[in-house]
Amino acid sequence: MDVDKLAEDLLKGKRKALAKAITLIESKNKKHEEEAKKLLEMILPHTGNSVRIGISGVPGVGKSTFIEAFGLYLIENGHKVAVLAIDPSSQITGGSILGDKTRMEELSRREEAFIRPSPSGSSLGGVARRTRESIFLCEANGYDVIIVETVGVGQSEVKVAGMVDFFLLMQLPNAGDELQGIKRGVMEVANAIVINKADGDNLEKAKLAKKQLENALSIFMRVDEDWKVPVLLVSALKKKGMEDVWKTISDYIEIKKKNGKFLKNRQRQEIDWMWSVVMEGLKSMLENNQKVAALSKDMEKAVINRLTTPSLAAEYILEGFRKSLCKGDAPWID
Ligand code: GDP
Repeated sequence: MDVDKLAEDLLKGKRKALAKAITLIESKNKKHEEEAKKLLEMILPHTGNSVRIGISGVPGVGKSTFIEAFGLYLIENGHKVAVLAIDPSSQITGGSILGDKTRMEELSRREEAFIRPSPSGSSLGGVARRTRESIFLCEANGYDVIIVETVGVGQSEVKVAGMVDFFLLMQLPNAGDELQGIKRGVMEVANAIVINKADGDNLEKAKLAKKQLENALSIFMRVDEDWKVPVLLVSALKKKGMEDVWKTISDYIEIKKKNGKFLKNRQRQEIDWMWSVVMEGLKSMLENNQKVAALSKDMEKAVINRLTTPSLAAEYILEGFRKSLCKGDAPWID
């Protein structure tokens, strides 16, 4: 693999180079991993110049219909749009929320759009890391709006919120009981809530849901003196409300850029990312350490037989791990 050439093509905006580069960073082959590191360091100075948007919502809420309509609106307004996905279920099924070719058909045919399904990976952490790196690659390739889509189940929403500038939560036009279904943690990371399918018979219901959500937000929302989380009504199917969504996002970015919080947020995200990779690495070192493996069995037995407390047993294991890392230490556990 000629990494220099790939970096050059990527920076020239060649479309094929982007797909190739993402495949490279997703590879688990050791040689590819080294090449991917080199590539990422080469392109890093050319990244960051985009608006990163996270979109989440339960299956069926209309995410792909919305992203298609929103993406086309952005293209009409001179933007280049990349859509990436994080799908926790793809680890189990091998499938992906974006794997289905019928999704975003019109958008995917456009030159100015790039759509990539969720990477398969052993852990959500691994998938998130690859998506973060893909964001860099898309930016280096000239995409100025990056959409990261995820399904509204599980931990993936919080992961996505941690890699974007603006997090948009999509809701169905249901009021009442349905409202209770929104997890508080997700509500706390949302920068805007979009009620989709506000069309036809659903319009009145959507208006009611908007009022209820606004009330709920005033109670649950974390305090942000710069920003009141808006509830917007859209119809992705009828391509209505796209302008409002983009204006909301642009206003938010402008406010945060003016007061310096935009950059601060990105810096904090990158530091968090660094530590999450350290933690994942440590965990895997611990899990693959032979001395720890041997010691764990003894300690598990000791805990079950009540010969020591769980905390003390944990300390023994950590001490064993620490010693195994020091060269020349006696293999004291054998
Ligand atoms: P996803 O699973 O969240 O990606 O949802 P889809 O985009 O696949 O949409 C699920 C279903 O809802 C499809 O049958 C869409 O045609 C329909 N749908 C999506 N957006 C709208 C909308 O704005 N109005 C109406 N009436 N139906 C919609």
